Amino acid sequence: MTAKRNVVIIGSGPAGLTAAVYTARANLEPVVLEGEPSSTSDQPGGQLMLTTEVENFPGFPEGIMGPDLMTRMRSQAERFGADIRTQKASRVDLTVHPFEIWVDGPDAPEPTFRADSVIVATGAQSLMLGLPNEARLLGFGVSTCATCDGFFFRDRDIAVIGGGDSAMEEAIFLTKFARTVRIIHRRDSLRASHIMAERAQANEKIRFIWNSTVSDVIGKTSVERLEVQNLQSGKTSTLEVTGLFVAIGHRPNTDLFKGQLDLGPDGYLRTQPGSSRTNIDGVFACGDVQDSIYRQAITAAGSGCMAAIDTERWLEAFHHTPTSH
Ligand code: NAP
Repeated sequence: MTAKRNVVIIGSGPAGLTAAVYTARANLEPVVLEGEPSSTSDQPGGQLMLTTEVENFPGFPEGIMGPDLMTRMRSQAERFGADIRTQKASRVDLTVHPFEIWVDGPDAPEPTFRADSVIVATGAQSLMLGLPNEARLLGFGVSTCATCDGFFFRDRDIAVIGGGDSAMEEAIFLTKFARTVRIIHRRDSLRASHIMAERAQANEKIRFIWNSTVSDVIGKTSVERLEVQNLQSGKTSTLEVTGLFVAIGHRPNTDLFKGQLDLGPDGYLRTQPGSSRTNIDGVFACGDVQDSIYRQAITAAGSGCMAAIDTERWLEAFHHTPTSH
C-alpha cells in the first residue's frame, strides 16, 4: 500500500540530510531516500563519501573524514526521527498532487509514497576519466576539488586535466600551494574563456601539456606519477606528480526529473533566486543539483536548510487552504 507523507527528501548528501534535520525537528516526519550503495551517482552520503579529509567544514578544527561527517549528519537526522531508507527513487510523478514516488522499480503499479511536498537533493557527480586506478586513488592524490584538497599539496608537483574554465580556475588556485601545476588538455586550444585562459597562461607555475590525456595513474597507496599519452603521436611518457585534479566537468543528477522540473541550459535544476522553490509548487531543490557555482558541502548544507524552511512554510499554507483538502 502506498504510504502518505508530508515530505519525501530524495538524496542524502549534506543538502538532503540538513533538510532532514530541519524538517524532522519541525515534526514533519520526513522520509529520506538515501540511495543505494551499489550506485555511483546516488550512493548514500553523496560526494563526501568519495573524499578523505575535510578541513573546511566549520566546527571541525582538526578536520574530519568525509564519510565520518556524513555518518554524523545521518545520525543527527535520525535522532530527530527522520525515516532514512537505503533505497533509490526510480520514478517520480510531480504532475499530480500528492506527488508520487516509486522506489520498487519504475514499473510497479502503485507508487511507494505519496507526498504533499518533495525536496530534491540528488547532487551532482564530477565527470571522471574512467580509469581503474583513478577510482582507486580518489582521495589519495586524485581529487575533483581544488578548494577542498589543494592545501594538501604544498610544494608538490601536480597536474590538472581539462581545458575549460574549471580546469583553469583549479590550476590557478592550486598555484597557491603547489610548486608546479601542469595542465593536461586533449586538444591544442582551450575551451576556457579568454580571460581565464590568459590568467593561467601568464602564471609562472603553470605549464601546459597539449594534445594529451592521462592514460594511467600510478601509485600503490597514493599517486606517485601519471602515464600521459600524446594523442597525436600515440606515444606515452611518465609525468612525476603526486596529485591529479580531474576538472573535465560535472553532471547534475537530474535524470529522474527531466520533463517535469525546469533545467537551466547547463543541465542544473532551476530554483527561484533566493529560494529553493522549483517551477512546481511544493517541490523544492537544494545542494549541488541546483548549484553549478559553489559546489561545497557547507553551501549544500545551507541550501538544505533553506529547502526545509521553504517546505515547512509551504506545507503550513497548504494545510490551511480549505481547497487543499
Ligand atoms: P567544460 O566547459 O565542459 O570543460 C570541460 C573540459 O574538459 C573541456 O576542455 C573538455 O575538452 C575536457 N574534457 C571533457 N571530457 C574529457 C575527457 N574524457 N578527457 C579529457 N578531457 C576531457 O566544463 P567546466 O570547465 O567544468 O565548465 C562548466 C561551465 O561552468 C562552463 O560554462 C564554464 O564557463 C563555467 N565555469 C565558469 C567559471 C568561472 O567563470 N570562474 C569557473 C568554472 C566553470 P574539450 O575542450 O576538448 O571538449
